[in-house]
Amino acid sequence: ESLTKHFPLGGGMFRKVKNVVQAVSDVSFTVAAGETLAIVGESGCGKSTTGRAIMRLLEPTAGSVKLDGEEITEMSPGKLQAARRNMQMVFQDPFGSLNPRMTVRETLMEPILLHGVASGERAQKWVTDLLKTVGLSEHHADRYPHEFSGGQRQRICIARALSTRPRLIVCDEPVSALDVSVQAQIVNLLQDLQQKLGLAYVFISHDLSVVRHIADRVAVMYLGRIVEQAPAEQLFADPRHPYTRALISAAPRPVPGLRTAVEAAEGDAPSALNPPSGCAFHPRCPLATAECSQARPELRQVGDGGALVACHHADEPAPVVLETAPPAS
Ligand code: SF4
Ligand code: MG
Repeated sequence: ESLTKHFPLGGGMFRKVKNVVQAVSDVSFTVAAGETLAIVGESGCGKSTTGRAIMRLLEPTAGSVKLDGEEITEMSPGKLQAARRNMQMVFQDPFGSLNPRMTVRETLMEPILLHGVASGERAQKWVTDLLKTVGLSEHHADRYPHEFSGGQRQRICIARALSTRPRLIVCDEPVSALDVSVQAQIVNLLQDLQQKLGLAYVFISHDLSVVRHIADRVAVMYLGRIVEQAPAEQLFADPRHPYTRALISAAPRPVPGLRTAVEAAEGDAPSALNPPSGCAFHPRCPLATAECSQARPELRQVGDGGALVACHHADEPAPVVLETAPPAS
């Protein structure tokens, strides 16, 4: 609820006013057991910071994070440690997030013992079960990370995340570093696990084709704010925010030649250090009007498909043009 994370930049000796990177501002959403909420947007939009702030790997500047009604942001270190058992994270780089000097067994054992999930033989048995759950087996247990492929390493990371029987897993670009052929296997594994275990996922990704496959709902972030949030089907069928339309039309299109007028947003994203006034998207938005550079649009319900959109012109129909082939010379 209203999650905010601002990073002050060191004010130099001659600088009176400190600069602040507004990485995440006023982000609110819920995710239910068995549900996947995807957070999408360009790099630097604040999606990873949101994920880390939820886990309190970063201290939020403001706002509230509740897991099963328990406020995470105000927990003492001891209570937070206990609560961490219920929320785990899977990262993009399955190699970098595994200790190269620890075997798979040691990697899985660590959180099991730390959180008192099991001990002795029951802990060993739980390791074996976890390996099976993610499609590996007992004979992988005493090997080291470098002995595995990227996909297998991500399976190990998922097993580690599952080791404490969490309720929520924040997946930060979990398949982006993997070969396309392996991506589907990992996404399918995550989906199977969700069904079996009733896990809630916050699934952070810039890859819309993966998001389309896995998400129940999607939150689109731009420069630290959610600009559109909608059920996945609704979002892909009828994106209402010009930025969402740009993102979707920049992804590979099913119908070659058909494009929306709002083609891939022009130019690079402005920085979260000095976000543009009004609607932060206005310098790149083909629909921007004078109002857009002055007043920031609040997230509001648009249409009857459950979409929340932060755009002054979200009620206007999406402009669609047919691309014509350039005249032959
Ligand atoms: Fe574009 Fe204006 Fe909507 Fe922002 S508020 S997305 S600038 S039309
Ligand atoms: Mg990121």
